[in-house]
Amino acid sequence: MNRNEMKLEFDSISTNEAFARVTVAAFMAQMNPSMEEVADVKTAVSEAVTNAIIHGYEGAVHKIMISGRIEEQQLFLEIADQGVGIVDIKKAMEPMYTSRPELERSGMGFLFMEAFMDEVQVISQPGKGTTVRMKKQIGQHGA
Ligand code: ATP
Ligand code: MG
Repeated sequence: MNRNEMKLEFDSISTNEAFARVTVAAFMAQMNPSMEEVADVKTAVSEAVTNAIIHGYEGAVHKIMISGRIEEQQLFLEIADQGVGIVDIKKAMEPMYTSRPELERSGMGFLFMEAFMDEVQVISQPGKGTTVRMKKQIGQHGA
């Protein structure tokens, strides 16, 4: 059984968006992913980390946690912050909904995560924080 786990904790500053997506890409390399699968996962991680920085912590510097798990050809990721949380998760996940139009956000982040990953689940409590749980099947291309 091919299993692997990792945990990552880093400051919520924008330079760490690149650190997070590159680190997750390196973690999933052992799954023999296609270029497209790696690009998909990097985009999803980027969106979730950006959300934690901008919305979760509203620009203040706190910790963002990523847990990654590989089980055979399944990649599981959790991106968590302990920020402001989301009051209405359903509304937040609607395409084009943003609470920060003044920051020129377009409300596409969750849509990208859902498009590029097989499953996206958001767990959040106002005042406690937000966890985005994602899953994707990797490496089913060619032999
Ligand atoms: P874009 O991602 O296109 O720049 P956006 O970040 O506003 O715009 P989404 O990523 O889809 O759009 O998120 C939708 C909304 O969900 C956000 O505007 C925000 O209100 C809320 N949200 C998302 N992630 C978090 C989080 N980690 N903590 C608190 N609120 C969040
Ligand atoms: Mg976003």
